[in-house]
Amino acid sequence: MTRTVYVNGDYLPEDEAKVSVFDRAFLMADGVYEVTSVLGGRLIDFPGHLARLQRSLDALEIRNPLSDEDWLAVHREIVARNGIEDGLVYLQVSRGNPGDRDFAYPSADTPPTVVLFTQSKPGLADSEQARTGIRVVSIPDIRWGRRDIKTVQLLYPSMGKMMAKKVGADDAWMVEDGLVTEGTSNNAYIVRGGKIITRGLSTDILHGITRAAVLRFAREAQMEIEERPFTLEEAMAADEAFVTSASAFVMPVVAIDGVALGDGRPGPVATRLREIYLDESRKAAI
Ligand code: PMP
Repeated sequence: MTRTVYVNGDYLPEDEAKVSVFDRAFLMADGVYEVTSVLGGRLIDFPGHLARLQRSLDALEIRNPLSDEDWLAVHREIVARNGIEDGLVYLQVSRGNPGDRDFAYPSADTPPTVVLFTQSKPGLADSEQARTGIRVVSIPDIRWGRRDIKTVQLLYPSMGKMMAKKVGADDAWMVEDGLVTEGTSNNAYIVRGGKIITRGLSTDILHGITRAAVLRFAREAQMEIEERPFTLEEAMAADEAFVTSASAFVMPVVAIDGVALGDGRPGPVATRLREIYLDESRKAAI
């Protein structure tokens, strides 16, 4: 089946969809995005993703081209047209096509470019990796200072994934001033004595939608949480570790820079949080 994508109001076969070479996302990475999971044909944590989209757009002074109702309708339509049972919806809004290349923003009446596409991932919530856990390596965090804006400027995270793969690991944790910021595409946590430790929200990290939901469920389950930065050394000595993201949910981390955590298998806190998160977010899916 040819994939149907959405571009500026039209649903098109992917090989007929077009975006200008002058689009600001293509020339300047001047755009923001969201990724929403689909489980059982329904959208996970959707209101959170829409709220963060608005926040990212506001930070870059890009007009939100669609109402919340329209965003939901387009998401549902693209899921239906592509027959997605389990998978992802990627959405991107860029500052649009000014018709030429210029560092200055184009006039505010330049229409933003809106693109959505789906990725089918059968059995997304039942991943083998969640049973074995992932291995991460540390890399320096050399990204810009507004990591709270979810821009399409993903070159360093992409390089980070490759640095991890080159040394036989699955992902990288980024470190700044001796403290872990986050994973290349996820938020990072450690567990010590049953307590969940994760960096607090600031411009240093992306405000994960999965992070917000997981911390809420953890609090409801009377689990102890400490929002503070932690060092790599503390992480390597932790009982367990995990990451969260919209596509990986809660994913156990079993080794950091080749040092196994605990017994080298997914820990009980990460395992329980994954179950709670998947149960609760499936119930709330729309
Ligand atoms: N941090 C970074 C750098 C990310 O790219 C992502 C996922 N896009 C996350 C954290 C996790 O955010 P979310 O739970 O909203 O997917």
